[in-house]
Parts: sequence; C-alpha cells; structure tokens
Amino acid sequence: MLTFDNTETAFKIKSDTDLKRAHMLFRILAYPVLVKIGNPFINLASTLRLPIGWIVKPTAYRQFVGGETLESCKAAVDKLYSAKVYSILDYSVEGKKDDKSIQEALNETIRSVINAGKDPNIPFAVFKPTAFGDNKALELLSNGTMPDKKTLEEGEKFRQRMNTLCSTAYKNDIPILVDAEDSFYQNFIDSVVLEMMEKFNRSKAIVFNTYQMYRVDRLDVLKNDIERARKKGFYLGAKFVRGAYMEKERERARRMNYPDPIQPDKESTDRDYNMALKVSVENIDVVSVFNGTHNEKSSMYLVELMKEKGLDPGDQRLWFSQLFGMSDHISFNLAEEGYNVAKYVPYGPVRFVLPYLMRRVEENTSVKGQTGRELGLIKKEVRRRSQYQK
Ligand SMILES: Cc1cc2nc3c(=O)[nH]c(=O)nc-3n(C[C@H](O)[C@H](O)[C@H](O)COP(=O)(O)OP(=O)(O)OC[C@H]3O[C@@H](n4cnc5c(N)ncnc54)[C@H](O)[C@@H]3O)c2cc1C
Repeated sequence: MLTFDNTETAFKIKSDTDLKRAHMLFRILAYPVLVKIGNPFINLASTLRLPIGWIVKPTAYRQFVGGETLESCKAAVDKLYSAKVYSILDYSVEGKKDDKSIQEALNETIRSVINAGKDPNIPFAVFKPTAFGDNKALELLSNGTMPDKKTLEEGEKFRQRMNTLCSTAYKNDIPILVDAEDSFYQNFIDSVVLEMMEKFNRSKAIVFNTYQMYRVDRLDVLKNDIERARKKGFYLGAKFVRGAYMEKERERARRMNYPDPIQPDKESTDRDYNMALKVSVENIDVVSVFNGTHNEKSSMYLVELMKEKGLDPGDQRLWFSQLFGMSDHISFNLAEEGYNVAKYVPYGPVRFVLPYLMRRVEENTSVKGQTGRELGLIKKEVRRRSQYQK
C-alpha cells in the first residue's frame, strides 16, 4: 500500500554520508537568521564576481542542482533511475535578455531537448518562456494596451523561438513543459502556448502549459482550454503547480492598485489545485496531467482519482513531479508503487543558478515551508539505519 512515511524507500539511493550532508544543510536552513545574513552576502559576492563556488558547491548546490552541464548531470540521472525515478533537466541560468544571450539560452535548451530524445530516463524537456522574449514586450502584449510596431516585432520573435523549441520537441518525440512565472506576462504566453498545442498536440500531448493554481482565475482558464481542445481536436498538456511568486504578485497589485490575482488564502489555493486535478482526470481522454507539487495530500489525491477512474499507475498521461533534493519521500514511494515520477533537475554553472538556489533556500527556510518536513524525515531515516546496524 502506498504511504509517504517509508523513509527506507525515500532515501534508498542516499548513502550514510549523503544523508549526513543533507541533515546538516537542512539544519542550517532551519535558522532563518543565518539564511538572512548569508543571502545578501552571496548576492553581493556574485555581483562582484567573487569566488563563492567553494561555499555553495558542497552545500546547497550539491543538494538542489544536478551539475554544471547536461553531460555532468548524467550521474544524477542514472542514480535516480536506479530507483525508477525519471529526470527532467532544467537549464536554470537566469541571465541577460539581449538577442545574443537569448540565442545562447535557446541553443542550450534545444540541446537539452535533443539529449532527452536520446535518453530513456529523461521523459520531458522544460524551459522558462521569459528567457526567450523581451520582458517589457511580453508584459505589454499581455495587458491589453495597443502595442506599437517594436512590441509586435518582439512578440513575433518570441513566437518563433517558441515554435523552434516546440517543433524540436515534436521531432524528437519529447513532451516539453512551459513553466509559468509572473502573471503579468502570462496572457500573451498562454496564447502562444495554446497555438503550439493546436499545432503539435494532434496525436498526444507534446506541449504542456503551466497552470498556477494560486491564481483566482486559473480553474476557469483550465476549463476553457479543455473545451477548446475538444472543439479543435488537440490534446491539452496541463502542468499544475500552486505558484512560486505570491509575495511579489501581491506587492505589485498593491503598489499598482489593481485586484490581487492571488487566492485570498492557502485553503482556496489547495481547493482549486485539487479541483484542477479532478477536472483533468474527468477529461483524461483529452488531458495529460503533470502534478508538480511537494504537497502530500495533492499527490495522494491524484492517486485516489486514478484509482476511482480505473487508471493504471503507469498510464503515460499522468505524471508526478518534485524538485531535485526535495520531498524524496513522495517521489520514491510513488515510483516504488509504479507511478510515473520525474524530478526537476536544474543544471548550470554555480554563479548562474544562484537565483534558483536562493529561491530554494528561502522556500526551505520559511516556518511553514519544507525544512521541518525534510529534517524530520532525514532524522527518522538516520535513526532507522543506526538501529539496523546495532
Ligand atoms: C516539479 C515542479 C515544478 C514547478 N514549476 C513551477 C512553475 O513553472 N511556476 C511556478 O510558479 N512554480 C513552480 N513550482 C513551484 C510551486 O509553484 C510551489 O511554489 C511549490 O511547489 C510549493 O507548493 P506545493 O504545492 O509544493 O506545496 P504547499 O507547501 O502545499 O504549498 C505552498 C504554496 O501554496 C500557496 N500559498 C501559500 N500560502 C498562501 C496564501 N496565504 N494564499 C494563497 N496561496 C498560498 C503558494 O503557491 C505556495 O507556494 C514548481 C514546483 C515543482 C515541484
């Protein structure tokens, strides 16, 4: 029977040394004061290009990042797969937005799609759409104002880059996930992603959009997209997350005096998240589901929905996913029971993945966040192993 309490399964690919290292890191993260002091220091050091690899690499980087390059992630990918957990390699460099930098990021993402096509342990490719467009133009094209010529041109460049990525995914038969970020870019991104789905999702879901269920309007958007998929005869790829930019969204809405796009409370986000899973499973003949969460209840809920509907755990239309270095108790226990599980494994040079690392560190530091859960599970496993060795 599926349970998330089995720490032996959860940490089966971790050696005693790995566990000790993770234990130490999560203990440090449990002290918000240390993180508060450390974060500005690392930010400053990064801006001044001081060498910080020696402190970041053996700690947070090792826990949350797969490697510096696609090739160097191979060891992590194979190790995860030894426990039937797949990998999604995420080029997490958050850099400049000039044409040259965009082209470099595009080339690397294309390489990651082709790499996934060759490696059976990598079932998806992924990218952040804002890496491929002028952000000001994405914002203007999303907010309903009349765009000028330059903005329209930037929008067209973005559409073409999306088309390049999605057609490469289609040719390599690798589903591709389009991440979601700030809501004020999303209207235009949604319209382009839907266009790509109509084009490439004719016989199965290749292109997946991300629905951030902390947004008040996303359940309705999902229902409309399902209706559109039915009418136009394509498959809807739906990745679900709660959403990672809540404070920033609320603060912007307050500052610019428009209605907060985020749910009033956590319960409302949870309700819509689970409802989105339900609606998708009810429409599984046209929807493919990617359940991106560390929430145990939402993970278990999808399992229940699948059982109710008589869907096989290995059904390729349903995937569970957690971030590398987090919530192994969900990933490995689901995989052990035959469910499709893939870890998001970010990669990139230390300096460039710092913003990603900072977000993980902050997330794992908040009182309501992960640390308590992660630390409790690691301690339990350390205890279990020491009893076993006696
Ligand atoms: C595989 C994977 C891919 C991801 N991809 C993306 C992505 O593309 N875009 C993105 O934005 N995020 C992404 N995330 C992060 C995700 O959105 C969440 O921030 C993170 O996973 C925590 O949510 P949870 O469901 O795991 O767990 P929980 O701990 O149950 O939920 C925490 C989340 O609930 C919401 N929440 C908390 N308090 C409140 C409140 N007071 N009112 C309303 N809502 C509240 C917030 O979204 C918060 O992040 C991804 C996560 C995973 C695991």
